[in-house]
Amino acid sequence: MSGRISILGMDFDPETVRSAAEKTVDGALKRIGAACPPRPFFVVTPNPLILSNALKDGSLREIAAAADLCLPDGVGIVGAAKRQGTPLPCRVPGIEVGEAALSFLARTGERVFIVGGAPGRAAEAGVRLMDKYPGLIVCGTADGYSESDDASLPEQIASARPALVVVCLGSPKQEKWAYANLEALRGAGAVICLGGAVDVWSG
Ligand code: UDP
Repeated sequence: MSGRISILGMDFDPETVRSAAEKTVDGALKRIGAACPPRPFFVVTPNPLILSNALKDGSLREIAAAADLCLPDGVGIVGAAKRQGTPLPCRVPGIEVGEAALSFLARTGERVFIVGGAPGRAAEAGVRLMDKYPGLIVCGTADGYSESDDASLPEQIASARPALVVVCLGSPKQEKWAYANLEALRGAGAVICLGGAVDVWSG
């Protein structure tokens, strides 16, 4: 992507919560409306710990570079950008981008698939999110252990045709799972990696 800001070898997009959510929803809706959709719009939200892990794990930097949006989920990253003279506009918490995207998607009754968390967490999060965002359809969920290890899960998700797939498997598992399965997830609109959001949403 052009205009990215490189911090310790990871490239971040200068977005706000709102602009990132709008781009994610826009990318998702274009894809689910397309006759022959490209791979899903892909969003990662590294925090300082993920950035520090990426110093040792080049595949995390590669995944961030391949993402359509890489958002700085931490003041430490924003501070580092400022210190090196290439400021980012603000911290962009992944969970806030996720929620803003869900509220946009609810307006037109779009479908969402949630992956991650201990057994039962994603399903509970789904029930609560449909209550919080009337119109939203949580069309499927999978836990982040035995169910996400099922090799047929990406195809199951793609065939459910969700506008958004929320992946909460912890880092680096979530980024690696999402990136490795982007082609298999063709048919879904967007994929966003959101760490512990499933635990917050499930209460
Ligand atoms: N998680 C998962 N599968 C795993 C490891 C973690 O589904 O193999 C879930 C975990 O249950 C939690 C979420 O990933 O709901 C975020 O985990 P963690 O707090 O470690 O990640 P962080 O939010 O710090 O990135």
